[in-house]
Amino acid sequence: MKRKPFVAGNWKMHNDLGAARELMGGLRGNLPKPLNVDVAVCTPFTLLYPMGKEIDGTDIKLGAQNCHFEPKGAFTGEISAQMLAAAGCTYVIIGHSERRHVFGETGDMLRKKVVAAQECGLHVIYCIGELLEEREANRTEQVVESQLQEALSPDLRTDLLTLAYEPVWAIGTGKTATPDQAQAVHAFVRAKLSGFFGQETAQQLRIQYGGSVKPGNAKTLFECPDVDGGLVGGACLVAEDFVAIISAAQESA
Ligand code: PEP
Repeated sequence: MKRKPFVAGNWKMHNDLGAARELMGGLRGNLPKPLNVDVAVCTPFTLLYPMGKEIDGTDIKLGAQNCHFEPKGAFTGEISAQMLAAAGCTYVIIGHSERRHVFGETGDMLRKKVVAAQECGLHVIYCIGELLEEREANRTEQVVESQLQEALSPDLRTDLLTLAYEPVWAIGTGKTATPDQAQAVHAFVRAKLSGFFGQETAQQLRIQYGGSVKPGNAKTLFECPDVDGGLVGGACLVAEDFVAIISAAQESA
């Protein structure tokens, strides 16, 4: 039996308030009914409160794209996990490739962020994935394993954890991993998760695929036995496309 799919939209640094409201309007009324997929929108920090109101009474949950690991203090420009929980977030993305590769976040920082987020009751979407040169050098498994090792440990709350496998070469590029490529890494990640949390829990943990998921490729990716939905960037900014991706997840369950 497959796990309940989970589709999260990563808005990145997009949308002003007007565009965000319009997007949420297009989502709210058009989701499959009944909805058998967990759905989240991970908005920029400034949109969390107003989008929290927009999703009120719906099955859509709110998420953020990053947090700091300290609860408060002299950290100019940062937002704590506590602040996100108070703003109504259920989820937070940690370790997105843009945080790792553009902002230089290290394994040590990511580990602290995962712990801090869970301590505030936030569900962590922990991202892993290899660069193109790492794939070409046959180092994909080595890279994702070390990304798991740097942030995960058996004492984490697995009820507040989702993995997202996002090959960096597929993010925002229009190139997607083939279902076979995605499945192979997801199965590898699940086997490694057994080492941290035991086999039964590893079978229950969801592993999203991310990297140019679109309405046209979502279903074949989500049908892979170890792919449990997606983390969606570009396509989540168009209500019709995001709804189609959620529907594909629902059909693949
Ligand atoms: C992402 O931002 O996590 C992502 C997968 O982006 P895209 O879908 O645009 O590749």
